[in-house]
Amino acid sequence: MAIPAFRFAPSPNGELHLGHAYSALLNVQLAAEAGGRFLVRIEDIDTTRCTPELAEKALADLAWLGLSWEQPVRVQSRHLADYSRVQERLAGMGLLYPCFCSRREIVANADPARRDPEGQPPYPGTCRALPCSAVEARIASGEPHALRLDMGAATIDPAALAWGDVVLVRKDIATSYHVAVVTDDHLQGISHVVRGKDLEAATAIHVVLQRLLGYVTPHYHHHELIGDETGRKLSKSEGASSLCRLRAEGVTPAEIRRALGFA
Ligand code: GLU
Repeated sequence: MAIPAFRFAPSPNGELHLGHAYSALLNVQLAAEAGGRFLVRIEDIDTTRCTPELAEKALADLAWLGLSWEQPVRVQSRHLADYSRVQERLAGMGLLYPCFCSRREIVANADPARRDPEGQPPYPGTCRALPCSAVEARIASGEPHALRLDMGAATIDPAALAWGDVVLVRKDIATSYHVAVVTDDHLQGISHVVRGKDLEAATAIHVVLQRLLGYVTPHYHHHELIGDETGRKLSKSEGASSLCRLRAEGVTPAEIRRALGFA
């Protein structure tokens, strides 16, 4: 049997806060208990929000907390070709279609009675019905488009169908969180995904992709999110939970571990 593998996968679109520290520490603890590996992955495909400086800062914060992880760290923005290959496989199954809609058009055409698990109107399917000739003409004219998964053709799982036809290739970044996370968990042999409850509903999408691609579905555990309460207990300033700021105030890694319930 392969050694269990756990990962902490921050997106460097802001500073790490106590919620991240909790997630990372929990992964480390569970990996240690399972005699497993612990990896850190930088999820920076969204170049509209992530920066290399914030990625460096995140790693420095984790090191300051006393964590160590396997090298090299996988940085998603350096592996876009891996995500393209996966997208091509899904396209080859006839499960992706181009979508030209703007956010405004989606809202205007959406069924007001329906909401996806994040509370947004699911995609109304407008571009799924476009004739091939129209699609080809619009692509040829250079009109920007995303690629959506035809969820109804991909699965019968109600939890995934509730999301509607999710975007798998964004207009602006040529891939998506869903594709990148599923690809990397597979390529890195991740056996246990431990992350916050905010991502629990999205797991249904990830499982659909894993089945289509023939990947093993890892064990999933979604932990409670750490609120500002813990930050207030530790911090001198109001609502501070950024690790950087706590550190600057003189809070020690040991105090952070204790406050988060790790002795
Ligand atoms: N990069 C995601 C985030 O920071 C986490 C992804 C995951 O754990 O699957 O919210």
